[in-house]
Amino acid sequence: MINKNVEKIMNEQIVHELYSAYLYLAMSAYFESINLKGAAHWMRCQAQEEEIHAMLFYKHIVDRMGKVVLGKIDAPPASWKSPLEAFVEANKHEQKVTALINNIAKIAMQEADFASNTILQWFTNEQIEEEAQTDEIAQQLKLVGDNSSALLLLDQKLLTRIFTYPATLSAVVGGVAGGN
Ligand code: MG
Repeated sequence: MINKNVEKIMNEQIVHELYSAYLYLAMSAYFESINLKGAAHWMRCQAQEEEIHAMLFYKHIVDRMGKVVLGKIDAPPASWKSPLEAFVEANKHEQKVTALINNIAKIAMQEADFASNTILQWFTNEQIEEEAQTDEIAQQLKLVGDNSSALLLLDQKLLTRIFTYPATLSAVVGGVAGGN
């Protein structure tokens, strides 16, 4: 049975993860509007990942006989000043999410809820990647500056991102998509 304080904060995290999905979908639409199809694709992949993050917490609560209570998801912004600003904001957002995950880990530790360790460890590692990826693209966009050719080249690279259901997740959740 899940600890009540951990259940509460994980329910809140489901909303944060779904907001992340919503934010990246909005960024995808922004990139569509300026015809950067690669960046739009990259952000759609990112949004899909965030839905999985939400479902990981959802399934963890269900598996431990807790109660899933879904909260309200805020509307994300609709546009950004530049591709660079969007990726800088994505990176800032991921830094906030890292702090939220750290706080859940802290509460789980305080409550001696050791059954949450595996999933929280996975999220801790995932956040390293989330911050690094968004920062790398932001730094590349800084190098691009106002060079249109370089921007289109970077956009082609972003188009090559392939969304794959993370293999490590099966071990953690026993298959979210399969409804197990
Ligand atoms: Mg996430």
